[in-house]
Amino acid sequence: PVSQPVLEIRDLTVRYGEIEAVRGLSFVVGTGEVVTLLGSNGAGKSTTLKAISGLVKPAGGSILLDGEPLTGLKPEAIVRRGVAHVPEGRRVFPGLTVRENIMLGASNRPGIPKRVLRDEVEAMFELFPDIRRFGDALGWTLSGGQLQMVALARGLMAKPRLLLLDEPSLGLAPVIVQAVFAIIAEVRRRGTTVLLVEQNARMGLSVADRGYVLETGRLVLEGDPQALWANDDIRAAYLGGR
Ligand code: ATP
Repeated sequence: PVSQPVLEIRDLTVRYGEIEAVRGLSFVVGTGEVVTLLGSNGAGKSTTLKAISGLVKPAGGSILLDGEPLTGLKPEAIVRRGVAHVPEGRRVFPGLTVRENIMLGASNRPGIPKRVLRDEVEAMFELFPDIRRFGDALGWTLSGGQLQMVALARGLMAKPRLLLLDEPSLGLAPVIVQAVFAIIAEVRRRGTTVLLVEQNARMGLSVADRGYVLETGRLVLEGDPQALWANDDIRAAYLGGR
């Protein structure tokens, strides 16, 4: 369905010792799309994101960004190519301020004056008004929802060609989940291409152009969000009914 994919994954296999976490996975993400990977615990979703950003080395297959292979590149090189990964657990540096944490996201764009970056951070607070007043607060003082916002803002500071988001809703109160997904919808509206991993199928599909369902490292289903959500069997088996 996609003519010019930003990301193309072909026959990807990832192993941890004996465990085959991803098995012959192929899929694409088109320009400006939000694509959501769904599936239960251990289905291989996080491993797929880690393979794209170079944190784990694939045992086989290829990963192409704008038609150029990423496979074999170091994580720093992949970040410079424009892939920003917001990992599960929204790690921020506890001893740095919110502004400093967000600014670190631009480390893939060297040579930009500090003054320009500071303006970009301020502009980021328009997308994240809830954390503006915590700009000078240290990372460790923030709540889970605020940390997720900081982690998202840091990812966006890379001005990524592809933004990888791992479980942004994990452990957050429902009202905060709504706020996080409203931001993802706005990020999509502004044209950023996103590959999203979610266990909360309802929210994950609500912002998606297309969805893929993984089961024990394999692709078992793909489709548009309405079709995936409308299928009762699929919802019960793979999407947790949430
Ligand atoms: P979750 O939402 O729980 O992270 P997931 O779909 O993202 O689930 P992965 O984390 O990618 O799944 O895990 C896929 C499989 O690989 C699981 O069987 C998991 O136990 C295994 N696995 C993941 N990381 C490692 C690791 N560092 N060492 C060994 N096995 C691992």
